[in-house]
Amino acid sequence: MPEPMDPGALLEVRGLRVEYATSSGSVSAVADVDLKLAKGEFLGVVGESGCGKSTMLFGIAQLLNPPASVTAGEVWFKGENLVALTAKSLNALRWRDFSVVMQSAMNALNPVHTIGYQFRDAIKAHAKWSDTQIRVRSAEVLQLVGIDPVHLKSYPHQLSGGMRQRAMIAMALLFTPDLIVMDEPTSALDVVAQRSLMAQIKELQRQLGFAVIFVTHDMSLVSHFSDRLMVMYAGQVVELGSTRAVFDDPAHPYSKGLLDAFPSIRGEKKRLTGIPGAPPNLAKPPSGCRFHPRCPVAMDRCRQDEPELYPVGMAQARCLLHDPAPAAVKVEVES
Ligand code: SF4
Repeated sequence: MPEPMDPGALLEVRGLRVEYATSSGSVSAVADVDLKLAKGEFLGVVGESGCGKSTMLFGIAQLLNPPASVTAGEVWFKGENLVALTAKSLNALRWRDFSVVMQSAMNALNPVHTIGYQFRDAIKAHAKWSDTQIRVRSAEVLQLVGIDPVHLKSYPHQLSGGMRQRAMIAMALLFTPDLIVMDEPTSALDVVAQRSLMAQIKELQRQLGFAVIFVTHDMSLVSHFSDRLMVMYAGQVVELGSTRAVFDDPAHPYSKGLLDAFPSIRGEKKRLTGIPGAPPNLAKPPSGCRFHPRCPVAMDRCRQDEPELYPVGMAQARCLLHDPAPAAVKVEVES
């Protein structure tokens, strides 16, 4: 019997693993992710390209396509394990209970149909509403994201990039779901449009109470909006804690490196430093701590000992610097 869900959680991910089947064997893109998301919470997921953040999101939403698949773990959402559901049962939950906003609205929206037609299509696939109900709700959600309902008659190419992303968010809100997962929804926009869309998502979340998992490579973007931050590196969660704690005092050297790599609009001017090297090949990850070849404070044991997620204050970090049992003690116990 699986353990019951934490009653305070909306989503509970347990030991989620995603692998890609390749001609030279399986490649672990996401390794053993555990996560509890509260109702109405905003979680930011950050990391460099290829760290597994979007793959994890797709694994949670059950949107993976071969050669990627969930090979272990459970995703509990409102009392159901999404990993074990049939396509039909998943379809019943999508849009109504959780929805997904993709990176590029231009790819997600159909260029040959109007926005109104696409809203209508999504509603008809999940509910038996009258034409009037569909029209009223479509206009309502478009207004919610600050777009004049006259644009229900517009084609995607007639809207600006920011408006297209807003239309995607409006579509995700058609049934007022409890959870919206967002995969870099602002990455194609300029900085001003990005900030304004983020502020709007936050305001909608405040009004409607849905939870958000927001994937981005830009840590600064989520800094003012997320309640908690998950930092991923090489398919693993390397730090998870309140956004304030991670920004004020990052516990993992990789989080610190990410923070030092983007400019702050407050405080003293300082030289930006990147993280030397490149993320590892996941088909052959480094031994011990996966970050050790790039870590500025790596110790000898980092090359062979695999760190776990250790508690650090109210956060957790996958770094041997926070191992409560020092290596010497472990050797004594083992000998
Ligand atoms: Fe750096 Fe070692 Fe911590 Fe890994 S375990 S982040 S190599 S100090």
